[in-house]
Amino acid sequence: MENNTIIQFKHVTKQFDNDPPVLDDVSFEIERGKFYTLLGPSGCGKTTILRLIAGFTEPSKGEIFFNGKKINDLPANKRQVNTVFQDYALFPHLNVFENVAFGLRIKKLKNAEIHAKVKEALSFVNLSGYENREIREMSGGQRQRVAIARAIVNEPEVILLDEPLSALDLKLRTEMQYELRELQRRLGITFIFVTHDQEEALAMSDEIFVINKGTIQQSGTPTDIYDEPINRFVADFIGESNIVSGKMIKDYLVEFVGREFECVDGGFDANEPVEIVIRPEDLEITSLERGKLQVRVDSQLFRGVHYEICGIDKDGNEWLVHSTKKAKVGDEIGLYFDPEAIHVMRLGETEEEFDRRIEIYADVDRHGK
Ligand code: ATP
Repeated sequence: MENNTIIQFKHVTKQFDNDPPVLDDVSFEIERGKFYTLLGPSGCGKTTILRLIAGFTEPSKGEIFFNGKKINDLPANKRQVNTVFQDYALFPHLNVFENVAFGLRIKKLKNAEIHAKVKEALSFVNLSGYENREIREMSGGQRQRVAIARAIVNEPEVILLDEPLSALDLKLRTEMQYELRELQRRLGITFIFVTHDQEEALAMSDEIFVINKGTIQQSGTPTDIYDEPINRFVADFIGESNIVSGKMIKDYLVEFVGREFECVDGGFDANEPVEIVIRPEDLEITSLERGKLQVRVDSQLFRGVHYEICGIDKDGNEWLVHSTKKAKVGDEIGLYFDPEAIHVMRLGETEEEFDRRIEIYADVDRHGK
């Protein structure tokens, strides 16, 4: 295990009674000092991973390590981990100071030390001067900050955040995204953040784990995951995508919608069936002649920064386009894209196979085709 690894899951399965496993043979490593996001639809197992790390539940199979030590049986209160819950779980009858001081009082620290630590934690979350406020007098965003102060005051090595922004309105949510990201950088503590909001995950994380049905589909930086989704689920979940079936004729040549297109992917078998992703912002509206695809404009919405245009090709495939240019519903138009805009996905590829293939092709690119 690398020295920088703080948490490791090895083949962890979690099953309740005879239900299908909630987590199915999950393995991953978390490095010290980074911002991680567990991203996936409701019920995919995100909270269960946090609960296993916090020690609120035990794995049915597999091992969990913290700083290289197996912690499967270590009680929650002995773990260097604090959780910020979705509903904040603050004590309504205690003021801000006492909410933050709670854990320190249990540890029986001296009063002077408690005061110094709470003061510092509150200043970290910009709540200096709010010590005597009642929780009910605080806004949603302020309660959120109290909950974070309560977590950081214990100086844990890892902070777990379970959808902490979901109760906030959009504007406040965006502000808190910046604040949390900034706070994590200043503290240098590992954050593991749970959300089902892909934009939030892309904006905040160093690393994202995309989870579906109890397995990690793909892990990587936001740009890795956005630019090179491993499968249809990730491509769809992580942003709006055009996804069609096709086949790989040979390296750098792919066929879909009945035509051949130059691409930058390789490492597939000849004529291997694949799926193709093209992001809406990579499609450019052009003349019918210049277009690599020809579509009829079916609908158009103005989205402020761009138009969202849906075109339909002769086979009935829908193509979503984000364009600063306007189109006209009913018009026949061309869509142009660069070879780099085509992302080819192998059916049923595992993350290890995918990483190896990408690595080989990055190497080919560096050293010439
Ligand atoms: P959400 O975003 O809705 O919170 P999630 O991805 O965090 O979802 P989990 O809370 O980890 O998902 O739940 C995963 C699955 O495990 C769900 O189907 C849930 O019903 C099931 N589950 C969780 N806890 C228990 C339990 N104590 N007993 C039985 N099933 C459970």
